[in-house]
Amino acid sequence: MSLTLHLKTGRDIPILRGHPWIMSGAIARQEGDAAADEADVLAASGSFLGRATLHPASEIRARIFDTRPEARLDEKGILERLTLAKERRAHWMAAGPDGAERLVFSESDGLPGLILDRFADTLVFQLLTAPWERRRTALLEALVAVFRPSTIWERSDADVRRHEGLEPRRGLAWGAPLAGPIPFREGDWQFLADVENGHKTGFYLDQSVSRHALSTWVRRLGSPRVLNVFAYTDTFGLIALAAGASSVLSMDSSAPARDMASRMQALNPACESARWEYRIADAFAALRQLRDAARQFDLIILDPPRLVNRKSKVQEGLRAYKDINLLACKLLAPGGILFTFSCSGLVDRTLFGKVIEGAARDARRPLQFLADLGQPPDHPRKPGFPESEYLKGFIAGV
Ligand code: SAH
Repeated sequence: MSLTLHLKTGRDIPILRGHPWIMSGAIARQEGDAAADEADVLAASGSFLGRATLHPASEIRARIFDTRPEARLDEKGILERLTLAKERRAHWMAAGPDGAERLVFSESDGLPGLILDRFADTLVFQLLTAPWERRRTALLEALVAVFRPSTIWERSDADVRRHEGLEPRRGLAWGAPLAGPIPFREGDWQFLADVENGHKTGFYLDQSVSRHALSTWVRRLGSPRVLNVFAYTDTFGLIALAAGASSVLSMDSSAPARDMASRMQALNPACESARWEYRIADAFAALRQLRDAARQFDLIILDPPRLVNRKSKVQEGLRAYKDINLLACKLLAPGGILFTFSCSGLVDRTLFGKVIEGAARDARRPLQFLADLGQPPDHPRKPGFPESEYLKGFIAGV
């Protein structure tokens, strides 16, 4: 029941630096039990590199989950890793029983292909790779043992599953059925996670640090006019309202997201609705309309969906990032503040910064980078694995 992957010469170098992926072209040969779905990975020299899960249907043929030869992703291994992830979060996050946090962030937590979020006492997981299908029962048992949740909900409906020939799956996996969106607290705010039908696992936990930064900046600016583009359930917009924005205009193409935003607005007494407008619109067109109407804002948030999905689309995606950032520069009053984000794993921070520079230059506006934004501690980045830093942002003065 064991399998060994021998890599080609030189293909061990990124692995030794921490990159967990082994592409099909890096493998010289494989030997052992062809039915196994875990393997020892060896360098061309024969030295041991790590233990990996196997993905025969995918270009990413193996994913290293541990560098210790004895490591296994069996019941015991899963339980140990979940326990470790839980203990670490308890130190880092202090989210509390009515809070929310990402408990497992795939490779960064030594569990490639697994995403696990908690909203109060509900767990939501995504299985992104084939080896998890066989381990699904073991995973559920471990989740119950480690976290004692009331409900475990599955959202294995991400596109990436197709790379491994997997069909989407979503629904109740264990425990009590859900009674609508799940209320939870983040700092002073009361939010809702639409676990059943929302994006990803229902809520963008990855913007928690940026939400706090926004609250601080809105207070600092006094009573800014705020524009929140790609708002989803408008957590940024609602926080700006609570922090004293004189007006908030939020835009997204999704009508269900606006409904959820209205429900969250009603839960937070400080988010008075007279100062709030949420438009359903295509952001690219709506930004142009605002420009043509000579509207001005003091603070703009741009948090678009992933605009670069594959290597062949990098230039096209960069043009889209530049387009919206250029329009935002024009819509900002002098001295205005831009919160701008990219969640494209293929665009690194340096390149994204260059795009913002180019946008400001074309808009003939001076630019100052004031702070970097990015993933909170419950989405740890793995050294040597740039893909684990997918979210990057800047606070810029324009
Ligand atoms: N800022 C949000 C997350 C945004 S995710 C938060 O912190 O919760 C990106 C959003 O962009 C999604 O809600 C999606 O519906 C929206 N979107 C995608 N394409 C769009 C377009 N062309 N115009 C407007 N909104 C769009």
